[in-house]
Amino acid sequence: MKRVIIIGASYAGLYALKELSKNKNIEILLFDKKDYHYIQVESYGFVATKYSISDVTININKYIDDLNSDIKFYQEEIISFDAGIKEVVSSNNISYSYDELIIATGSLTNFPPQVPNIQKYSKGIKTLQKACMVNQSFDSIINSSVLKEKNKNNMPYNIVIGGAGLSGVEVAAEMAALLKEKYSFLNNDSSNINVFIVDGMKTVLPNMDERLITACEKRLDNLNIQTYLGSFINDVDEKSIYLNNGTVIDYDSFIFTGGIKAVTINSNKEYELNKLNQYVVNEYLQLKGEKNIFVIGDAAEVIYENKYVAPTAQLAIQAGIYVAKFIKNDLSYKYNEAFIPKSNGVLISLGGSYAIGLVFNKLFIKGYMAHKLKHFVTYMHKSKFKKIRAS
Ligand SMILES: Cc1cc2nc3c(=O)[nH]c(=O)nc-3n(C[C@H](O)[C@H](O)[C@H](O)COP(=O)(O)OP(=O)(O)OC[C@H]3O[C@@H](n4cnc5c(N)ncnc54)[C@H](O)[C@@H]3O)c2cc1C
Repeated sequence: MKRVIIIGASYAGLYALKELSKNKNIEILLFDKKDYHYIQVESYGFVATKYSISDVTININKYIDDLNSDIKFYQEEIISFDAGIKEVVSSNNISYSYDELIIATGSLTNFPPQVPNIQKYSKGIKTLQKACMVNQSFDSIINSSVLKEKNKNNMPYNIVIGGAGLSGVEVAAEMAALLKEKYSFLNNDSSNINVFIVDGMKTVLPNMDERLITACEKRLDNLNIQTYLGSFINDVDEKSIYLNNGTVIDYDSFIFTGGIKAVTINSNKEYELNKLNQYVVNEYLQLKGEKNIFVIGDAAEVIYENKYVAPTAQLAIQAGIYVAKFIKNDLSYKYNEAFIPKSNGVLISLGGSYAIGLVFNKLFIKGYMAHKLKHFVTYMHKSKFKKIRAS
């Protein structure tokens, strides 16, 4: 019997778990700080109050019961690992030994360290707790309790999104679309609520396909979202955001989505990390220098054909399945190929029933069809967790 420890029960960890659970000669110990999987790709809809908490979470205990395999789930944080003695230590100071270790600890919002006030005054949405705060504050805006006070003095209410990448534009567009819908229903054009996006890069969706950038700009414009691009944030205080080019933006609510920082764990040895704090791995996703430790998902730096592969849920899922198969093959002395990431493209939700996307990185789609496709992809992810329960 081989014992595999998985740290992190999200896209990467749970797909590895499911694949490993098919082999009855493997004992699996799964660790996570939380007892739910947070479906981050839907978080834009949750913070904009379109989705409820149950739409963006999967209960890990229930999922494991349904897998009906030799899996033990511990709701504990792993605070360190030691590759020499093959052990991890939990926050309860308990040691667990492993034959193979899978690190799937993901990432958190990367608040730029040179502007410490961003972290103090803004909220990220990469944890459910922070996303709940944004959800509640947006709920109080659309239900007018905050606005009444502001409107008394005829002042605008400004929501600022830091970061014009995929998650930033999704959050801004969903909030603006909901506001537009609400205020047109009330027949009130002067809602007095502004949604702004700020990014140091010169375009929205930096480094993405030109067609996505153009379509996104147009949609944001239709939703009356004002963008401040090409100048980084220099400072923030409790009322205003100061850009390098001298622009000052007053805000009431500030959400920061400007980047990610991988979550690493203390260890007996030092391992190589990249600028995003991601572990450097080899072509089999093994931690550099270790044969029995794999790193998958946002926590790993994946390089394919000499190019950096951007961390996504899609990549995390593929890596989870790959590593599980690697371990199973190894157990039966089968040869393993190197990991080959495959991109099925990208789908970006831009409020209401509108999305844009590139299918298989070639076919550009927009509007309702793209929205339906995005919905279908998420439905497929969720059904992976529910299908087993139904059978
Ligand atoms: C708004 C938004 C929209 C997005 N849209 C898309 C999209 O459309 N398509 C796409 O492919 N990707 C998208 N992404 C990116 C995607 O969500 C991430 O790439 C994905 O969540 C990475 O999965 P993961 O399993 O590596 O880590 P995470 O989802 O970050 O999960 C890591 C897990 O590890 C646990 N953990 C961490 N440290 C420890 C520890 N020491 N001990 C125990 N447990 C620990 C955490 O509690 C967590 O459950 C989006 C992200 C955001 C924020």
